[in-house]
Amino acid sequence: MDLKQHIRSIPDFPKPGVMFRDISTLLRDADAWQVALGRLARAVAPGRPDLLAGVESRGFLLAAPLASKLGCGFVMLRKPGKLPGRTVSLTYELEYGSDSLHIQEDAIEPGQRVVVVDDLLATGGTLAAAIKLLQKVGADVVASAVLIELGFLNGRSKLGIPVTALVRYD
Ligand code: AMP
Repeated sequence: MDLKQHIRSIPDFPKPGVMFRDISTLLRDADAWQVALGRLARAVAPGRPDLLAGVESRGFLLAAPLASKLGCGFVMLRKPGKLPGRTVSLTYELEYGSDSLHIQEDAIEPGQRVVVVDDLLATGGTLAAAIKLLQKVGADVVASAVLIELGFLNGRSKLGIPVTALVRYD
């Protein structure tokens, strides 16, 4: 199955000049959704993760069912002000301004093997921050997996770990 055919492209969202790759159309097609999860599971399983970490919010849509399929735990990397209890955070630069990701301080046991999952890899800023944050709380981040990679931005060069992408735009 060609998963790209299930991804809708919407020009000028959320701002002029951006071609938004919308996974809503893939998620609402039961077969495409299953195929995507199956392919991600096959790519991620050899890394023998203990946990999958998802980046809020579309990363959760992939990481949680994938973790369940692989028999792993699932951990949330969230935007500020969402997680209860003690958290650890990391601030990273965006094209305009900055953003931060948070994790619960006790989310990871030292040395646990973690695969970090998001819907899309663009410049790599988000996933690079997610990896650093996971390392800060003691994770062994073994790999990263995304549904979509914008290859022309070369975000994977920022990550320093193997990256699986099911669909690529060049
Ligand atoms: P980046 O940090 O530049 O790699 O951007 C990745 C994050 O921004 C991901 O969480 C994506 O959900 C979102 N994103 C960036 N560019 C796009 C795009 N063209 N279409 C959909 N989502 C995008």
